[in-house]
Amino acid sequence: MKNIDLLKNLNNKQKEVVSENRKNLLILAGAGSGKTLVLIRRIAWLIYKENCSPKSILAVTFTNKAALEIKNRIKSLLTNTIQNNNIWIGTFHSFAYYLLRIHYSNVGLTKNFQIIDNYDQKIIIKRILKKLSLKDKIYSVDNILKYINNIKNNLFNKYIYKNNLYNINLSKIYNEYQQFCKVTEVIDFNELIFYLYKLFLDNPNILKIYQKRFQNILIDEFQDTNDIQYKCISLLYNKNYDTKIVLVGDDDQSIYGWRGAKINNINRFLQEFDKVKVIFLEQNYRSTSNILEVANKLISYNNSRLKKKLWTNSSHGDLITIYYALNEFDEAEYIAKYIKQKFTIKKSKLNNFAILYRNNSQSRIIEETMVKFSIPYKIYGGIQFFERQEIKNILSYLRLILNHNDDSSFERIINIPKRGIGHNTLNVIKDIANKYSLTLWKSSLYIIQNKNSINTISLNSLKKFISLIISLKKDIKTQILSKIIKKTIKKSGLWDMYNKNCLFEKDNTKINNLREFINASKQFSKKTLQNNLELNNKYINIEKNNILTDFLSQTLLFNDNINKNNDKKDNYIQLMTIHASKGLEFSEVFIIGMEEGIFPNKISFNENLINEERRLAYVGITRAKNKLFLTHTKKRFLYGKKINCIPSRFISELPKNYIENINYIENINILSKEEKFFIKKKHFIGQLIYHKIFGQGIIIKIEILKNNEKLQIKFDNKIIKWIMSDYIESFV
Ligand code: ATP
Ligand code: MG
Repeated sequence: MKNIDLLKNLNNKQKEVVSENRKNLLILAGAGSGKTLVLIRRIAWLIYKENCSPKSILAVTFTNKAALEIKNRIKSLLTNTIQNNNIWIGTFHSFAYYLLRIHYSNVGLTKNFQIIDNYDQKIIIKRILKKLSLKDKIYSVDNILKYINNIKNNLFNKYIYKNNLYNINLSKIYNEYQQFCKVTEVIDFNELIFYLYKLFLDNPNILKIYQKRFQNILIDEFQDTNDIQYKCISLLYNKNYDTKIVLVGDDDQSIYGWRGAKINNINRFLQEFDKVKVIFLEQNYRSTSNILEVANKLISYNNSRLKKKLWTNSSHGDLITIYYALNEFDEAEYIAKYIKQKFTIKKSKLNNFAILYRNNSQSRIIEETMVKFSIPYKIYGGIQFFERQEIKNILSYLRLILNHNDDSSFERIINIPKRGIGHNTLNVIKDIANKYSLTLWKSSLYIIQNKNSINTISLNSLKKFISLIISLKKDIKTQILSKIIKKTIKKSGLWDMYNKNCLFEKDNTKINNLREFINASKQFSKKTLQNNLELNNKYINIEKNNILTDFLSQTLLFNDNINKNNDKKDNYIQLMTIHASKGLEFSEVFIIGMEEGIFPNKISFNENLINEERRLAYVGITRAKNKLFLTHTKKRFLYGKKINCIPSRFISELPKNYIENINYIENINILSKEEKFFIKKKHFIGQLIYHKIFGQGIIIKIEILKNNEKLQIKFDNKIIKWIMSDYIESFV
């Protein structure tokens, strides 16, 4: 055992969790109370003190970033031998994926099944709408997507809908969609868990293997499990094999109701499992007391909560800053300037800062502004690396090479780069596919054989395309992964296409992203994957997977671990949605767009949904350790038009005495020339300055005079003074 006291520094309740005898435990506690910390220590405790085999441990959490965090944190507690010895840590989705790669045939999947994301799902839906001659104005693609995903998250129990034409057609679309996925050998993200469930349910012998193996199941962020995940856990649990479960959760942080998460699973666990001991943790170690007060007050507006206490010993810390910005550009600049000066003057590390937002689309202006201020950033989730157009294109090539029947990939790249296969040709391919129930690939072969459906030029292009894919397929078995990818990028013409563009546009981002993709494939560790699969069990015959298959699945399952920015480790600020920030913590946090319609989101204006939005705000606020900023704007460009914004109701729910308001209006007295002013102004609120007598301070208000600015400054020794700008020195 490493020389570590596993109970060191823990409070009594935390000690209890870590050192309790093996039994079913439910840890209920608010944010930052050490839930994840004790879960990690308990894993080590089980191994060292309870002599559990590392292989017996299945630790599940919600995001890949959180899983990675647990892996890193547990490293320091365990010796290398144990680390290499297959403790299983990951997300529900990755767990399902690994098992399905082994047992695909037991659930009727093919060996090379691929996973598809929402984007591909939409392509398929559009195609089905066309086939069934249904108008996408009436049958909106987004609604259908929701319908399909809902069915899967609810164990395929279709809701009972009224028997009208619309619903009959929805059902038809659904059946077509399922058939389509089967023929093209793909499964969507939601189905991963469904198939895991099916695997366990239909194959008692296989289930038994895993029940025997995973005697210790630990689940973090339990409040966000959905029905089907709950059922998978229930199936894995077998008293006869002495399974024990530790669940860790916080009802106030349940933020995936829209995806079927059920807070009620917490109660269900208490009712359905044997002798569950419940332990509450009440001390928050993460945040200053000001931040915690604000968080506690906000969440108190939600009803029907499990009433938990949360307190802290920490000092008050700074007030929460609410910045009222002029518009989205001012909002982003305010943040950028603050970070820049903290970085340059106070030498703060950039990874101390996180900017959180409700919707991915909010990141664009922040990104642009960070580039303008030369502040390196990293984005987690959202439109990220693997969702970029150029990366999607190469991914589609690779998927089509692997599985010719993958129609959505076929459709995406058949004319990228342009090779003279236009809409008309594609429509002919689709029509024939529909007529004879073929995939697009097979339909193309049919057309090539029969020669008469399209003109000679298109026919030749189609032939070329098909032989390109066939020739690339030959390499899969012999070449190493990065070579396969390099070759595909070159031979497909993608490289030339993006290279040519970048000569004209002086923008080589796309080419760099392709390079980064090749790098990612080099880094991709086949070994880790196989390690995890190594179940050391004679019943299981592990087939070696094609490395390309694994890599492609990895891009979907672990897409938050690779990023386009290749900066040194600590050298970037972090941007992410609040959903993606769950479980993480940062010294200074900005939550932007605190406006009605954005946060709470515009589709959430009914009480249940508002409660979920409020929990989301609670999650965001409790990510901050030392300093919290909430920003909102007067105007912004939203949904294609300029709108006047209303501050989020959540701002008005915060206790006033913990807040300092900074208002852009205090920055200016010529409102009509606002924008111009922002370009010209010399100083800004939040700017750090130096004064010969009073020392270092921060500008908290500005009054514009004719030729000068009068600044209200809060000095480091807490004195507040109005000073003419001539008498100060600015740092930036
Ligand atoms: P969340 O609900 O956000 O997931 P959590 O309950 O999982 O939070 P952790 O992330 O485990 O909380 O812990 C929050 C912070 O408090 C971490 O930095 C952790 O190291 C620290 N912490 C937890 N317990 C203690 C303790 N007893 N002494 C000192 N620091 C602690
Ligand atoms: Mg946690």
